[in-house]
Amino acid sequence: MTAAISYELPSRLERPSAHSDESHAGTRPDLLTTFDTLGLAEPILKAIAADGYSTPTPIQGKVIPQLLSERDVIGIAQTGTGKTASFVLPLLHRIESEKSKPAPKHCNALILTPTRELAAQIVDNIRAYSKFTNISTTLVVGGVRPGAQIKALSGGVDIVVATPGRLLDHLGTGVINLSATKSIVVDEADQMLDLGFLPSIRKVMAKLPRTRLTALLSATMPGQIRKLADDFLDDPAEIKVAAVSKPIERITQSVRHIAKQDKRRVLADILSDKDVHRAVVFTRTKRGADNVCKHLIAAGINSAAIHGNKSQPQRERAMAGFRSGATTVLVATDIAARGIDIDDVSHVVNYELPNVPESYVHRIGRTARAGRTGTAISLCDHEEMPLLRDIEKLIGNQLPCGSEAKEMPSRHSRDAKPQPHAGKTAPSPAPRATNNETRKRPGHQHHKIDPAQSRDGLMRMLSNIGEFTQTAA
Ligand code: AMP
Repeated sequence: MTAAISYELPSRLERPSAHSDESHAGTRPDLLTTFDTLGLAEPILKAIAADGYSTPTPIQGKVIPQLLSERDVIGIAQTGTGKTASFVLPLLHRIESEKSKPAPKHCNALILTPTRELAAQIVDNIRAYSKFTNISTTLVVGGVRPGAQIKALSGGVDIVVATPGRLLDHLGTGVINLSATKSIVVDEADQMLDLGFLPSIRKVMAKLPRTRLTALLSATMPGQIRKLADDFLDDPAEIKVAAVSKPIERITQSVRHIAKQDKRRVLADILSDKDVHRAVVFTRTKRGADNVCKHLIAAGINSAAIHGNKSQPQRERAMAGFRSGATTVLVATDIAARGIDIDDVSHVVNYELPNVPESYVHRIGRTARAGRTGTAISLCDHEEMPLLRDIEKLIGNQLPCGSEAKEMPSRHSRDAKPQPHAGKTAPSPAPRATNNETRKRPGHQHHKIDPAQSRDGLMRMLSNIGEFTQTAA
């Protein structure tokens, strides 16, 4: 059965009023459920309430009951949908109900993630939701000395959250044994595939007991992930919640056409604005991130860089400073585009456009989280025009031009075709979107790309503008 429902993630601490329940009752069957009715153990409910949540998101409403009934699950959902709690809460419930403590070097549940940052974030979530229990959790990731992990694992741990490489090291040296692990979650499986972790996941799976609970979460379902699910999941319930981007409608997006050599100056200008409270700047390369960060610091803007060449302590320091507000700007490569969940990022600046258009959606999704609004500005030089076209094709809209458009040297303008970016009021070559197709913001024009040119992009855009489509098997 497939049902399309309009849904927006309730913001943290927002409690639905009687009125909002009523107004959604016809369109949001999941809202008839509250956490209290899901059958979760009391200390977990208490922690959820302390965090300010009373209503499960669609993915939570569907996944939690399945995992509580011990059925394997494939969850097709992206970051921002509340997917972490959808698997963390049932794991906690199971451990809390069984009250059995793991033997030394064993763990009850294992969560595999592609990046260290995401793993750390999941551990934070687990700690918040388990704070009224005695459930223990340990982070097992590379980039740090193994000593503390070895010590923590030696006594047995309820939940291990790991990246595959370091976990395999510990399995190899006998520091951890998965033969009594009852539940396994593979999070962001498609990113695992992108990063080449699939063979490692298979190795880990081979160490688990045959009888176990397995959940696999992925934003997309490429063939290899489907095969992984076929090989390792037993009659799973398949639950699909499409949406990166509630953003698209709450993010004011624009592009500035400027020469490459002007990018640093324009970036510093943008970030000096008083409205910029917390910003993520994306570059394509690690060296680029370092250079931009140095330049911003020289310009008096409090910045830190995060990318794969930084040591784990450096990455953690950069994230902690950004999270606490000590650092205003995080300069990142795409490694930080997925999974990182910091609520009040006011601005995302694409210093360089991504090579892969989907990354644009992930990047801008770092702002406008938890019901807030946000601003995404892309700096585009002449060489990046094809990348911009790919992005516009994917999102189904042409990005309106920002204030620097006039600075673009004429040789950088596009000459062969009609030029919708040449100025704010440039006529669109294609018919304008109706209000139903795009929700306009004052002062922003959305020029519609011919859907026939971009059926895929349009479909994705539609699922991205605040519509969650649910499929329950
Ligand atoms: P995730 O998709 O797991 O990264 O979660 C995205 C954001 O939604 C995080 O800030 C969560 O704290 C928040 N969140 C999780 N569950 C709920 C809920 N039931 N209601 C409102 N916000 C939630």
